[in-house]
Amino acid sequence: MDTNSCTKPLNVNFSVPARVDPESKPEKTLVKVGEAEFGGNEVVIIAGPCAVENSEQLHETAMAAKKGGAKVLRGGAFKPRTSPYKFQGLGVDGLKMLREISIETGLPIVTEVMDTRQVDLVAGYADMLQVGSRNMHNYALLKEVGMVRKPVLLKRGMMATIEEFLLAAEYILNQGNTDVVLCERGIRTFETSTRNTLDLSAVPMLKHLSNLPVIVDPSHGTGVRWMVPSMAKAAIAAGADGLIMEIHYKPDVALCDGQQSLYPADFYCLMKDLKKIAGAIGRTLILPSGK
Ligand code: PEP
Ligand code: MN
Repeated sequence: MDTNSCTKPLNVNFSVPARVDPESKPEKTLVKVGEAEFGGNEVVIIAGPCAVENSEQLHETAMAAKKGGAKVLRGGAFKPRTSPYKFQGLGVDGLKMLREISIETGLPIVTEVMDTRQVDLVAGYADMLQVGSRNMHNYALLKEVGMVRKPVLLKRGMMATIEEFLLAAEYILNQGNTDVVLCERGIRTFETSTRNTLDLSAVPMLKHLSNLPVIVDPSHGTGVRWMVPSMAKAAIAAGADGLIMEIHYKPDVALCDGQQSLYPADFYCLMKDLKKIAGAIGRTLILPSGK
């Protein structure tokens, strides 16, 4: 018997099938989105507004994302809002604006798809499809994005166990789409001081159990702007392959999640710190200035 059991997956009581099991498929999955590659040595940062609001907001915020060193731009056109009376996103107009800003900045786009009927539509504009926390258990949607040849960013359900999260990923993989990036975005606990409890222990566990890239969302994970830099740094230190963060050129007037969105200046500062942390653990984070 191999005594070095700490290097083996902890499959005790887990029914996670072979496809994401690093024992049966030891090589890491690399997921390319435009020029960015998740799962390699480089730490990849996704940044952008929670929602696309208008062309000025998207333009200014995208420029800040690029200037800071983000390699992928985020922005919701279809927003899953808890209240039906709140801003729901610009829909197709938002998708068109995302495509235009992608051409202008050269940054690939990740945006959420919420409905099986809109997968082809969103895939026509986006470089990466996001399945949000609320839809992680939407098996019809998981199968549908599994049939599309676009990478998928799968966010952990707010009440999902690691096993349920990995099995949700399997729904996508089983359709033939192997370009899946997992995202820890916080879970619901008894704690109320933060929006969610960011489960950073999910990072080493997911990497231990699967060969998919794992990124962290410290914005939804905390819901509090001032906590985002700390948790972003901790996520990289814990071995995350990247981050997805909300930034906004004017967070105080954002239509969605302004309270957790970084100001551009905070983002620039954080990126420099993240580069140092990545370097300290033998990884790279390439900033535009090369600094
Ligand atoms: C988002 O990233 O836009 C979002 C709604 O996040 P989550 O699905 O994690 O709540
Ligand atoms: Mn948001």
